[in-house]
Amino acid sequence: MHSGVKVGLRLLPAPPGSGVIFRRTDLGGFEVEAIGRNVARVSYATSLMKKGVLISTTEHLLAALMGIGIDNAIVELDNLELPILDGSAQPFVEMVRRAGIRKQRRARTYMRIRRTVELRDGNKFIAIHPADSYSVSYSINFPHPLIGAETYAAELTPEVFQREIAPARTFGSLQDERAMRDMGLIRGVSAENCIVLNRDSVINGPLRYPDEFVRHKMLDLIGDLALLGRRILGRVVADRAGHAMHTAMVALLLRDRSLWEEATLDDEAGQMRSDMPVAAPTLA
Ligand SMILES: [Zn+2]
Repeated sequence: MHSGVKVGLRLLPAPPGSGVIFRRTDLGGFEVEAIGRNVARVSYATSLMKKGVLISTTEHLLAALMGIGIDNAIVELDNLELPILDGSAQPFVEMVRRAGIRKQRRARTYMRIRRTVELRDGNKFIAIHPADSYSVSYSINFPHPLIGAETYAAELTPEVFQREIAPARTFGSLQDERAMRDMGLIRGVSAENCIVLNRDSVINGPLRYPDEFVRHKMLDLIGDLALLGRRILGRVVADRAGHAMHTAMVALLLRDRSLWEEATLDDEAGQMRSDMPVAAPTLA
């Protein structure tokens, strides 16, 4: 999207407890873990860096993996930026579905939020409240006749993610295009991978949802919070936040261990146990 370079990407299985690991096959297989301490540059996209090796625009793939419940995966790529594809998380979801999902024999470890955590910057904010599941509510207020004030809220299950959130595409306006190109950004952007707005309409419609914009912001948030390295048990509320604020929340949670605890869910542990091989009954 931003660099405009060609990239090949492959998803591979990883053992329990691995998390998501990016692997640069063009740099001898150098690995960069998808975790908050590797967050490098955050402006119009989220980038990771480790020992000078960059992995750029991670949010849509990480949202897809979190959204459909993938905890462990290796992501091989042969360049510095993930592909933008159609501007949504949908093509990544389809990749995983085609490959299939294997349930691993270890209970998932969650990050259970213990008390409300909040970050505020003027009228932007993000908060996470304690809860027994992972839900997100996002609000935006864009000065555009098609957008304005929108709020979207969802309980984050794989079904809801695939149907309501994954297809929502990134967006940008023709008014901002020149400034972004001057910054060396959006070299790979086209009407095939981005909703393009002019002053009062969408020039490459139709939209996939009337409120596709706020749904895409939620997708970005889910992808950025995936850098916690664990699935959240908490209720996330965000208003006009962005990648910088999303990743600031990740840094805050990873820094302050008193804000959360590791937890497993009883019914999942039970399911995992029932997957285990059972000794065959011995006939007398
Ligand atoms: Zn995005």
